[in-house]
Amino acid sequence: MAYDEESRETDNEDGGILDDGNILKIIYNLLRNRFGQMNWWPAESDFEVIIGAILTQNTAWTNVEKAIYNLKSRNLLSFEAMDAIELDLLKEYIRPSGYYNQKALKIKEFINFAKKEYNFSIELMKKENTAVMREKLLNIYGIGEETADSIMLYALKKPVFVIDAYTRRLLERHRIIEGSLKEKYKNLQKYFADNIDNIDKIDNTDNIYDEYNCNNKINKISDNKINNIINNKINYERNTNNIINNKINYERNIEIYNEYHALIVMLGKMFCKKNPMCSGCPLEELNHLV
Ligand code: SF4
Repeated sequence: MAYDEESRETDNEDGGILDDGNILKIIYNLLRNRFGQMNWWPAESDFEVIIGAILTQNTAWTNVEKAIYNLKSRNLLSFEAMDAIELDLLKEYIRPSGYYNQKALKIKEFINFAKKEYNFSIELMKKENTAVMREKLLNIYGIGEETADSIMLYALKKPVFVIDAYTRRLLERHRIIEGSLKEKYKNLQKYFADNIDNIDKIDNTDNIYDEYNCNNKINKISDNKINNIINNKINYERNTNNIINNKINYERNIEIYNEYHALIVMLGKMFCKKNPMCSGCPLEELNHLV
């Protein structure tokens, strides 16, 4: 399937988004057909995902695996154990991941944050509002956007798309996004968010739950008013359907975000390397610069 150059749109003279979003679906399907289901993240617990997301900064995953092994074999992959361990010992165990002095401090900062704000409960963190949680993570020393979003998506199961170097490379080489827009993480993230099915409904989820609670209260107040009871019943049923539909879309988007990022990483590792190997790549038939 060849991608049609004529269908692209350019936002402005300085470059911008060159596509209406359909290309993302085409790429997703091509990658999924070739690589199959990814089932990320490679970890045994949400806590391990978080530690892995910090350790993988500026290093290859094989180095992270060695550091994780050091921690896991000593039963250190828990909030309590990480809280108790001496900083110097932690540095020693995560040394294989590189930048271990900084990364040990970052892990400790995260542990302190989780203790103070969520009493070491990942379940409480999962219940936090998406935007609030992301902002809190970004305020922790050493947690940038890619790390925060990896934690959000893969540990906390929030619908947040992760942008990394592989994603930038893919978008750039296929001329999907260009110019000054491509520099900003939030522009790339928004492009994915705007163009993956049903994403527009996600941001309303919290409000809809509020609306549901509000209608419950109204129902109680209006017991003796027939018209109000009928209207509230209609609203209640409508809102219940909305909640169910939004919950389905919310979870579906988390799954697509999860798979899509993992597929892009696989693409980057196997084909779209620093020196691209376009021959045999699942996206070979699409227009690209290299
Ligand atoms: S390797 Fe070539 S065809 Fe494959 S994604 Fe990269 S630029 Fe596109």
